[in-house]
Amino acid sequence: MSATKYIFVTGGVTSSLGKGIISASLAKLLQARGYSVTIQKLDPYINVDPGTLNPYEHGECYVTEDGAETDLDLGHYERFINLHTTQANNVTTGRIYQTVINKERRGDYLGKTVQVIPHITDEIKRNIKLLGKKFNYDVVITEIGGTVGDIESLPYIEAVRQLKWELGSQNSLFVHLTLVPYLSASGELKTKPTQHSVKMMLENGIQPDVLVLRTEHPLNMDIRKKVALFCNVNIESVVQSIDVSTIYEVPLLMKEEKLDVTVLKKLGLAENEEPKLELWKQFINKLKNPKKEITVGLIGKYVELPDSYKSIMESMVHAGSVNQCKVNIRCIHSEKIDKSNVAEQLKGVQGIIVAPGFGQRGIEGKITAVNYVRNNNIPFLGICLGMQCAVIEFARNVLGLNDADSTEMSRTTTNPVIDIMEEQKGVTEKGGTMRLGAYPCDITKDTKVFDIYKQEHIQERHRHRYEFNNDYYDKFKKAGMLPVGLNPDTGLVEIVEIPEHRWFIGVQFHPEYKSTVVNPHPLFVDFVKEICKE
Ligand code: GLN
Repeated sequence: MSATKYIFVTGGVTSSLGKGIISASLAKLLQARGYSVTIQKLDPYINVDPGTLNPYEHGECYVTEDGAETDLDLGHYERFINLHTTQANNVTTGRIYQTVINKERRGDYLGKTVQVIPHITDEIKRNIKLLGKKFNYDVVITEIGGTVGDIESLPYIEAVRQLKWELGSQNSLFVHLTLVPYLSASGELKTKPTQHSVKMMLENGIQPDVLVLRTEHPLNMDIRKKVALFCNVNIESVVQSIDVSTIYEVPLLMKEEKLDVTVLKKLGLAENEEPKLELWKQFINKLKNPKKEITVGLIGKYVELPDSYKSIMESMVHAGSVNQCKVNIRCIHSEKIDKSNVAEQLKGVQGIIVAPGFGQRGIEGKITAVNYVRNNNIPFLGICLGMQCAVIEFARNVLGLNDADSTEMSRTTTNPVIDIMEEQKGVTEKGGTMRLGAYPCDITKDTKVFDIYKQEHIQERHRHRYEFNNDYYDKFKKAGMLPVGLNPDTGLVEIVEIPEHRWFIGVQFHPEYKSTVVNPHPLFVDFVKEICKE
């Protein structure tokens, strides 16, 4: 196939309609029909990347193999299509402006006035086309963050309007997602918000090709016809997206609605064979027919917003499906845990995950929780800060180093068992300066972790500034907390385990970023498997 085809996904009426899931589902269907596809997210905020954002703002920051700190939608993309994304898959207004301003400072614009049109819109278009050009995808799906009508989305809408004409109508397509609300008082589904939203698109020069309508109730033919008539699309281009119990069902629903067929037709692409979705269906089947049920505690300080731990939650869904087990996650606020109530707080929980995080707040609650599960032989998985807490707890209560701490929390501790990494010492800027992305790790044979991974050399993704302090290496080893995963180049400790314990593993990296539907992460799978044995 010659030219890359571009699909632009926009949203109207309200935010949080699930553009990311629809984009990922469409990508999944096209991929299952044999096309190479990627998905890109354009975010209209001025932060250069979401790395500096508090999780309360937009949920988790997702990290790619190449070390980009990105929007959590990229996590959905990877979990659905099982392919790595890169920095090029997430572009923000901040990044666009930064590039344009840097060019201006270099004198690249030769004395011209630098403006939103054409300079900002050109930079947006360059970023969209870049993916297709660089990796030669058959289809690039670009999701535009925000809602049509927002001031900040305007340059993006204008850029894709221009692109449609440059690429030609057979090479590009607009999918617009809206909401059809249900008025319970009159028992009616209302199409007016959709009509208005399409009108707003038209004011910006864009006629959507396909409309995906989010709804709580099935749309009958009359409603579909009405939307088609008022929004200038044919009836096959009105697609229902009804609420479902799991996001992983959305690709199957979109298939029923023939979204993939409609899109392929409009882009002049062959339907090829029926989508291969056997593994996907098996996954859902197991997920929906659990034979067991367990409860896992997730200890973190951003638990008010479960999106803060999106990838961990989804990894547990994947692991639940593999084990045909319904996994209930009980989010427990680390600030609410202390020595006097830890038993009460963790009552009924069969295993715990201590979440990643930054800063002092809530840290003592996490350490107390680790202490409780270590002493009571309850399965434990510590992720990044969670592993660091496990190391601090062990140092304080087993090695007898009472003031053991991380230098992130206490600069003056005489036992910095977790310390700033050498390469981080001179770093003053906050954005994009952590140890980020995939690094190799060698696993020691004859350990639980080796049994789980079944390989010696792994690669996992990181996002941190602090590390296990190797000055204490021998002390920990002797006392029974074993460093069992090391970075082969630097000797940094990436995994610890306590062989005496039923299941106690801490990892400096983030396994949750790599768990996908067809490749569930072995650590989560084994963690759930262990608890299911009860
Ligand atoms: N705050 C810790 C560090 O920077 C842990 C980071 C994390 O949990 N992602 O090392």
